[in-house]
Amino acid sequence: MGNQVLAVDIGATKVALALVDEAMGVSEKREIRVDNETDLWSEIARHSLEIVNKISGNFLGVGIGSAGPLHLSTGSISPVNIPQWRKFGIVDSFRKVLQTEYVVLHGDALAFTHAEHRLGAGQGVENLLGMVVSTGIGGGLILNNTVFNGDSGNASFIGHHTINFDGIACACGRYGCVETYASGPRMAEIARTRGWKSDSPSFIALAEDARSGNSTALEVIDEGTRALAVGIVNTLATLDIRTVVLGGGVTQAGDIFWNPLREHVKNEARFTSFLENLDLRSAQLDRDAGVIGAALGVISEIESLDRVPNLNKQRG
Ligand SMILES: [Zn+2]
Repeated sequence: MGNQVLAVDIGATKVALALVDEAMGVSEKREIRVDNETDLWSEIARHSLEIVNKISGNFLGVGIGSAGPLHLSTGSISPVNIPQWRKFGIVDSFRKVLQTEYVVLHGDALAFTHAEHRLGAGQGVENLLGMVVSTGIGGGLILNNTVFNGDSGNASFIGHHTINFDGIACACGRYGCVETYASGPRMAEIARTRGWKSDSPSFIALAEDARSGNSTALEVIDEGTRALAVGIVNTLATLDIRTVVLGGGVTQAGDIFWNPLREHVKNEARFTSFLENLDLRSAQLDRDAGVIGAALGVISEIESLDRVPNLNKQRG
């Protein structure tokens, strides 16, 4: 199978692990559910060892894409939706367990953006904002064709920028964050407080009811996409960039999500002349974008160094 990276995609509800080779082939994919009962690191370490032991070529290292915030200087993470991890030293933990120095940490939305820029809807775009709209909302930036981390690794922390300082309290501690209006679970929750009922009160069910004409569902999706549009336009205007690739579970709802989003983005941008003709694109990669993006953190560093890294594991 050639040279492979262990790719780790840490989201709000699950952690995906897989091997990714230099041709972006994905194998040995596993998912671990995030909950408060499980010792998450022990589970990850156990699966990682099992997976890495299956590599027949060279083990290139570990690429991590994690929900934020991150602390790049210490290689640690504090995902908003994983309370058991606060400044958890994930880079050193992987180094110890897998005996490799080659561990690269990126935000999960940055990893997604990197994957879409390299292989998907963002190919050939010099300046790109990537966004994941799912259980949480995150962003990642490519500037001048290069992954942009920011000082601490959290560039375009878009889900937690406030658009209403008297707004809904957010899990991050602020008020009126984009995520409190526009994430899948928050839209379902807002609808529920307005009397919407469903056997499975998820965003998928909300979108389904909106397609059937349910007025509460339509109203909440309209407000959620408006909040998202304000967040997108604020970010694009700050940076003067015009192309966005959006992915994540919520964006897969189809026209019921995209039509109001496009309308609100156009409306929010209409007074800013340099934002005419914003280019909103749907992600092209499938569910493996997260692990491919995580692996690209390692693979692109190797490419940029133009050398073969220390070979930690030589088999076959
Ligand atoms: Zn927040």
